[in-house]
Amino acid sequence: MQAANFVAGQWRTLPRTFDRENPAQPSEVAGTYPASGVEEGLEALRAAAAGAAAWRQVGPPERARVLHKAAALLESRSPEVTAAIIREVGKPLTEARGEVQRAADILRYYAGYGYQPQGYAVASTRPNTRLTSQRVPLGVVALITPWNFPIAIPAWKLAPALIAGNGVVLKPSSLGPAGALHLAAALAEAGVPDGALNVVVGPGTPFGQALRRAEGLRAVSFTGSTEVGRHLQAGLGPSLVRMQMELGGKNVYCVWEDADLAAAAQQVAYGAFGYAGQKCTATSRVLVHESVYGDFREALVAASRAMPVGDPREERTAVGPLIDASSLERVEAAVRRAEAGGGRVVLGGARVSGLPGHFFPPTIVEGVDPAAELAQEELFGPVLTLHPMAGLDQAIGLANGTRYGLAATVATRSLAVAEAFLDRVDAGVVHVNQPTAGVEYQVPFGGVKESGLGPKEQGWSALDFFSDWKTRVVTVM
Ligand code: NAD
Repeated sequence: MQAANFVAGQWRTLPRTFDRENPAQPSEVAGTYPASGVEEGLEALRAAAAGAAAWRQVGPPERARVLHKAAALLESRSPEVTAAIIREVGKPLTEARGEVQRAADILRYYAGYGYQPQGYAVASTRPNTRLTSQRVPLGVVALITPWNFPIAIPAWKLAPALIAGNGVVLKPSSLGPAGALHLAAALAEAGVPDGALNVVVGPGTPFGQALRRAEGLRAVSFTGSTEVGRHLQAGLGPSLVRMQMELGGKNVYCVWEDADLAAAAQQVAYGAFGYAGQKCTATSRVLVHESVYGDFREALVAASRAMPVGDPREERTAVGPLIDASSLERVEAAVRRAEAGGGRVVLGGARVSGLPGHFFPPTIVEGVDPAAELAQEELFGPVLTLHPMAGLDQAIGLANGTRYGLAATVATRSLAVAEAFLDRVDAGVVHVNQPTAGVEYQVPFGGVKESGLGPKEQGWSALDFFSDWKTRVVTVM
């Protein structure tokens, strides 16, 4: 991998660069990258138009062969890629290693599409007429990704975009570009033709401007915060570009009175505090039936205390650093405001001293009004609020009572409660007796309300976004 842009089949450095710090050791530079501007974005989009024309001529089975080869290359480099991810985004070793494997698995999953039916034939109502409809590539598509899953999210956008035959420009987060660049290197070496895959590293604003000025751009798939997504959509709306948005979350875990409290406590601790809560599907609100509130709180405190905080390079670490100093300030300030509003810190609540990085411990706050900021706004840190509830209508009202709708869980042994939750909670993914965090790439994934927009990512539904249907009507004369 090179710390450079990848455009038209070439690695290109720029005189303008920026440094990415290691969030666990902020004095250490984890990487130095090109600070691309509008021109670099436009150049990559032009290269993608040329590359798209070549790549669409390559049949889906051959595209699949390339994806398979890239998966094997990535696996062979797993230790190096894992180390780069840990250095840049502070993801604990076990999760970082698993994410690299997941990226390889996603490439193989979408390679499978190369051998699936690409369309269908139906009987025409007209004489001597053959009626078929078939998926076709869109052309040039842009992908914008966040830092928190620095290789899995680029993989789950790139793989369906490429297997569908598009020319792609990927703009990874400047807080963690290494995973995307490793992925691009593997795909290029595996045989994606020059221009079909481009990566531009740098800040978001100029890339957004390049998208507004680009000619022939057909689609943008964005994962990131709701605020940036809203801004992007407002800017691109007039150009009628197809948009897919995967945005923030304020995910709820509901503990019913009949739940296995020890198992639920483990799941909440993992979902809320693993990777320091920096997952779009992290648990951040916990609703507990009032009859088991005290017992559950005790079990949760014990399970949360058992989550080791520290050096993300260590196998045992579950909670690494926050991504940067401003995130640490933001998380701590939000907890202080919640306390000022009547919230009580049950566990954690202040930054970890004695470690050089941006560490904040697992934090549990109770007594917070469900309408207050800490229970409403995505914080992206290891903080959850605990709320007592007394019945199904109240629980579902609270579960649905935010602007988000990404992931939700109910822990129960009651089929009736589980079914009610599955039916009535507005979320893209609803779990029963599973953590809110965690995604399986073989089913559609994404949010509703202000958590997502457009055809879902992952599963075969990703192909709905990255391809068009072309219907062919052929009358034999
Ligand atoms: P972010 O919105 O700050 O940035 C995301 C990407 O957008 C980055 O590559 C950034 O450079 C780019 N960007 C910023 N401004 C832009 C602009 N004006 N035009 C074009 N691109 C621009 O998000 P982040 O901090 O990297 O990631 C955390 C957020 O992502 C959280 O809100 C989290 O919930 C969300 N997320 C959602 C999912 C999901 O699938 N729903 C998955 C992971 C993360």
